[in-house]
Amino acid sequence: MAAMPWRRAVVLARRPETATAATLLLHVDGGGSSVAGQRVEVRLTAEDGYSADREYSLARTGDADRAEITVQAIEGGEVSPFLVDEIEVGSELALRGPIGGWFVWRPEQTEPVLLVAGGSGIVPLMAMVRARRAADSRAPFRLVYSVRSRAELFYRSELRAPDPGVDVTTVYTREAPEGSRRPAGRLTVADVNTGGWPPDFAPTCYVCGPTGFVETVADILVALGHDPRRVRTERFGPTGDG
Ligand SMILES: Cc1cc2nc3c(=O)[nH]c(=O)nc-3n(C[C@H](O)[C@H](O)[C@H](O)COP(=O)(O)OP(=O)(O)OC[C@H]3O[C@@H](n4cnc5c(N)ncnc54)[C@H](O)[C@@H]3O)c2cc1C
Repeated sequence: MAAMPWRRAVVLARRPETATAATLLLHVDGGGSSVAGQRVEVRLTAEDGYSADREYSLARTGDADRAEITVQAIEGGEVSPFLVDEIEVGSELALRGPIGGWFVWRPEQTEPVLLVAGGSGIVPLMAMVRARRAADSRAPFRLVYSVRSRAELFYRSELRAPDPGVDVTTVYTREAPEGSRRPAGRLTVADVNTGGWPPDFAPTCYVCGPTGFVETVADILVALGHDPRRVRTERFGPTGDG
């Protein structure tokens, strides 16, 4: 199979999502169609020719010559702090993809969907919520979003007023907002049970976040009785608590 070509991408906008994360809107030369859940590879090249490649999930699909990604800056990281804090509108980078055919949601799917996000793992799941809206789908969605604190929530205003048929449960792991009934703490079986679908509804489950988070949630889903063949996972990187 021929290698996927690198395409030139230009930054059209950079919007802060939190104090340490930003959404980049890119124009991609000769871009193609994408499916919610897919990712792209981004290449940054320094003046001396040194380059670094990283994968980022698409935060939105549908517009062929546009790509939207949301990047969480990792302290000491080579690429992510640059994309969040330094890259400017008009800057060029290289991009290839979209990649991935398993961790995807297509509008033809009508079954219930359970999305479980840890931290920046919300990105491809938000693409699915947006694709559902764009397609006017009636598929019932539930999203369980595990995040350290309110200050780290991505897509805050969009998720505060979700679309009809999309239920959102936010679980705070480090600092719960004042008045929350649930104290801050890691996602538990009870959280997944309450915020998710009963296994009898046979939902397709999509779990995305740091490796440790994804493994824990996948184990919880299977222990609750979900069919492992309906649990799709995407790991963003090292263990963390989302
Ligand atoms: C399929 C896939 C999709 C991804 N989608 C997104 C996305 O939508 N948004 C996003 O922000 N990131 C996403 N990532 C993570 C991204 O590819 C990079 O790993 C991340 O941006 C860190 O790159 P860096 O160059 O800044 O850090 P590096 O210089 O590569 O690493 C610096 C240090 O941080 C640690 N580290 C690396 N990655 C992570 C991480 N994800 N969490 C915690 N510690 C880490 C490393 O072990 C190292 O110690 C995705 C990863 C994969 C595999």
